[in-house]
Amino acid sequence: MIIEDRTERCLRLAQETHLCPHCRQKLSCCQAPAFHVGDGLGWGSELLFICLNDDCSLFSKSWQEFEERYGHSASCRYVLCPGEEKGEAMMVGSSDAFKGSEVDIEALMRQSRRFTKEKEAEAALDNCVAEKNLAPVIYLLTDEHADPAVRKRAGDLLLDLKDISCIDHLRNHNFRNTDLEQQVNMNIAKLLEIMFSKECPACSEIIKKQASTCKHCRHNFP
Ligand SMILES: [Zn+2]
Ligand SMILES: [Zn+2]
Repeated sequence: MIIEDRTERCLRLAQETHLCPHCRQKLSCCQAPAFHVGDGLGWGSELLFICLNDDCSLFSKSWQEFEERYGHSASCRYVLCPGEEKGEAMMVGSSDAFKGSEVDIEALMRQSRRFTKEKEAEAALDNCVAEKNLAPVIYLLTDEHADPAVRKRAGDLLLDLKDISCIDHLRNHNFRNTDLEQQVNMNIAKLLEIMFSKECPACSEIIKKQASTCKHCRHNFP
């Protein structure tokens, strides 16, 4: 099993887009406070999506409500925990609360060498067919942290590259994404078809489609 490290997890979350239901502005990805102001419990996540828009209706109208109900100066900001559909209102004592705790995506990206490699491989996809360069396609298909949409694109390029040396790399990889695995398996089958080849069921070597005996292991085809 691959354990996603902290940087990867933060980077992935920080790139998610969530809108505030009160003002439709994009929520900011922030470091969670150590304690939930309301009930003293932790948030169960080190990152939170928070609406930091000062013109947000929830934020601007709550000042008055707090003043009238409790007689002190406070307001609410909309907060969404990662992985949840619905957020909640979190009390804040000033308009500056959380403004300094936004996640620095650029800094996280610099920390993540893997992310840099993913972006390089993604950029290399544009010319990989012209350059007969299988490497970025294999890199993306076997990187379980890479963006699923980019991996899907790499999977489709297998047919344009027509390089059966991809098969060994892909057969040796355990895909966690079953959709991608199916796509890859389907494209390997198509690739073998257009290259007039087949995989020997006994030794897994690629041989000519019409061969009746495997030249590697002498397996006989009925
Ligand atoms: Zn808002
Ligand atoms: Zn064989």
